[in-house]
Amino acid sequence: MTADVADVVIIGGGLEGCAAAWALTRRGITDITIVERDTVGSGGTGKSSGVVRCHYGVSSLAAMATRSLETFENAEDVLGADVGFHRTGYVVGVGPENVDALHASVADQRAVGVRTEDIDHTDVRKLWPVADLEPFAAFAWEERGGYGDAYQTAQAFAGAARRAGARLRQGITATGIRTSGDRVTGVDLADGTAIATGHVVLAAGPWSVGLLAAHGIELPITPHREQIVLVDPGQELGPVPVFSDLVSLQYIRPEGAGTLLFGNSDLSVLEPADPDRYSNQASTSFVDLTVEKVGDRLPGLADPAIAGSYAGCYDVTPDFNPVISRAPLAGLVVAAGFSGHGYKISPAVGRLVADLVTDGTSSDADIPARDFRLSRFAEGDLLRSPHPYVGAGQMR
Ligand SMILES: Cc1cc2nc3c(=O)[nH]c(=O)nc-3n(C[C@H](O)[C@H](O)[C@H](O)COP(=O)(O)OP(=O)(O)OC[C@H]3O[C@@H](n4cnc5c(N)ncnc54)[C@H](O)[C@@H]3O)c2cc1C
Repeated sequence: MTADVADVVIIGGGLEGCAAAWALTRRGITDITIVERDTVGSGGTGKSSGVVRCHYGVSSLAAMATRSLETFENAEDVLGADVGFHRTGYVVGVGPENVDALHASVADQRAVGVRTEDIDHTDVRKLWPVADLEPFAAFAWEERGGYGDAYQTAQAFAGAARRAGARLRQGITATGIRTSGDRVTGVDLADGTAIATGHVVLAAGPWSVGLLAAHGIELPITPHREQIVLVDPGQELGPVPVFSDLVSLQYIRPEGAGTLLFGNSDLSVLEPADPDRYSNQASTSFVDLTVEKVGDRLPGLADPAIAGSYAGCYDVTPDFNPVISRAPLAGLVVAAGFSGHGYKISPAVGRLVADLVTDGTSSDADIPARDFRLSRFAEGDLLRSPHPYVGAGQMR
């Protein structure tokens, strides 16, 4: 049997693996095979809330998010497919203890090109008339924020990559990364075959850990179960924007026809989970907590009712930021550990992975490859916001 060969093998057909394939094809590298054990978007991607905002204290992440907006906004032209992006706008509100951090963060965001502005209670009342805004001390607004459909986006990246020549192999598990000395030479597959290659992109979400551990490389990821609750507001709300409520530590966005999606922003306690076996429903206590938070934040709703729930898995690193990095094996790039915020930056992740494969470093001065290096954990030099929010430091 003729050996299968590719210039690049991507392990994992989630958002980040498919984004990497797309970005590589745009650099002219088209001899790519994506190996996906199930189907495209079947991992964390399929559960994503898809919130799009650039509000990050870490400048490189703000830069990645703002660069990515152009792809979401022009998906039909850039990817040749709709990604379900709704430009609703994005508002973030904080309590008095976080006003200085918000202003400092917004200033840094503007420095890397984010279009964001301060708005006041009167402005937010117009956007969210049913909300109690009393506990908030400051807000920031992004007109270009909103949400997209992560599943559709992964399919769009994969489709664009395939049209450019990339191959997608679904329903086949990568069982190992082959090496010779400290160089990558191929990928072993569950059916006993292998693909010979000099470049592997490991984008298998929380499942990346074992494939690296086999080579003595530690990837510190904790899979964490994250619960989502859907609420029928019981009334027509009109076009409300995404609301990041950093007082009650929740986010709210419209979902489909008239429903609201409530997500959790309190990651102070993780719920470690097996990403292959976890409950796909919110617990009673989480639903109760959501009911309480909805009542506090949206007291103007006349007759809200729980419309459903589900759960997904975050792949959380010690600093809640991803690893997008060359690894100790030559020819290997890791893109994993997106810690629950990998949707909004996915187009830029693809570009950074393509940079690392082709040049070994980032082509964007605002997005230093160093920030996302794997070795930062061993060095104790974590990627943290210089303007952390009290009580809600993670992810922002
Ligand atoms: C509930 C929830 C809400 C979220 N909300 C947001 C949000 O609002 N905004 C935001 O920016 N981000 C959000 N995220 C995060 C974002 O969706 C993820 O960061 C992103 O989808 C991760 O993509 P991925 O490609 O790294 O991982 P995955 O989607 O998990 O893809 C990894 C793929 O690898 C495959 N795989 C695993 N092992 C192997 C193997 N050995 N061989 C072959 N294939 C393999 C899996 O089947 C899977 O398809 C959310 C995530 C969740 C779970």
